[in-house]
Amino acid sequence: MPESRDYDVIIVGAGPAGMTAAMYAGRSMLKTVVLERGASGGELLNTEIIEDYPGFEHIEGWDLAQKFESHAKKFGAEFHQETVITLEKMPDKMFHATTDNGVVYRAKTAIITSGGTPIKLGVPGEMEYAGKGVSYCAICDGAFFKQHIVAVVGGGDAAVEEADFLTRYAAKVYLIHRRDEFRASKILQNRLFENPKIEVIWNTVVDRVEADAQGLVNNLHLRDVNTHATRDLAATGIFIFVGFRPNTGIIEGHVDHDDMGYLRTDMNMETSIKGLFAAGDVRVQLTRQVTTAAGDGTTAAIAAEKYLAAMRSAGDEPAIVATGGYAV
Ligand SMILES: Cc1cc2nc3c(=O)[nH]c(=O)nc-3n(C[C@H](O)[C@H](O)[C@H](O)COP(=O)(O)OP(=O)(O)OC[C@H]3O[C@@H](n4cnc5c(N)ncnc54)[C@H](O)[C@@H]3O)c2cc1C
Repeated sequence: MPESRDYDVIIVGAGPAGMTAAMYAGRSMLKTVVLERGASGGELLNTEIIEDYPGFEHIEGWDLAQKFESHAKKFGAEFHQETVITLEKMPDKMFHATTDNGVVYRAKTAIITSGGTPIKLGVPGEMEYAGKGVSYCAICDGAFFKQHIVAVVGGGDAAVEEADFLTRYAAKVYLIHRRDEFRASKILQNRLFENPKIEVIWNTVVDRVEADAQGLVNNLHLRDVNTHATRDLAATGIFIFVGFRPNTGIIEGHVDHDDMGYLRTDMNMETSIKGLFAAGDVRVQLTRQVTTAAGDGTTAAIAAEKYLAAMRSAGDEPAIVATGGYAV
């Protein structure tokens, strides 16, 4: 029999959304567990410097992550380093999160804050120089490239929109696309073609990202997909927008989501499953930032608390063991 542990709320993921939700749930005196497959921080751990989180003009990603975690723990949230394999609502209304350790965490409500993963090009130098010129977020990192020559890779809305955005900072933006037309909407394309700082390089892929002796990106090795001719592009930044995959495998198929897999929620962050909330990058929304993740986490935790209170007052609560583990 797998070990089972009971809580008021299970939070999947310890990124900014999950840790903010944990802080609010703890403050509401809910017995809260955060299940995180890696170290706490989520995408903060892939971000060298954050300059757009209010109250911190300049803070390292790992430092902000530690502050989020200790703040949530201060209010009683438990953190466990385990990967959630499945998250299900059972007929008795309890949510079961089963982890790779074979433990079943049970709670009356659950908040999924599992974020998403930018799709990589998979070329040499990409991972090695991430944060040293390779970026997946123009809003986050654009300001570090004032008067630089940068390249954007992709052909969808995100690539076209972010190339335009980057011209606020960069002296010149190359948009590299492997086809001879964009998938992006016409209105975004029109704005792009009217921008004199942008030059499109069609039918081309990046084969390799190269850096100087300090490990900062200084060159992109390009290849024409038709002629196979290669060339160098002296750029100090490369922004990759070839897709973003929400981490929804644990719940997929049971819950309403858009075509890209992002979870749909109402204004209380509640998904199509009653009592299951989603917050942060994993849900459908306009933008994905630390501030929006924290805001979503706040709403989700408060809504989860109200959901539990409504259950209690309706005498509709599932039976729950007080504390500790027992076998199901
Ligand atoms: C390179 C980069 C730089 C960025 N820079 C900035 C910036 O400067 N400013 C800014 O505001 N935003 C920035 N962002 C965006 C910001 O980091 C995200 O919007 C934010 O982290 C989203 O928080 P989240 O909690 O929703 O998801 P995430 O941060 O993605 O956290 C999700 C967590 O869930 C965990 N998880 C997923 N699946 C499971 C599972 N099955 N079991 C257990 N755990 C699981 C993951 O390990 C992860 O820790 C940047 C993003 C990137 C990629």
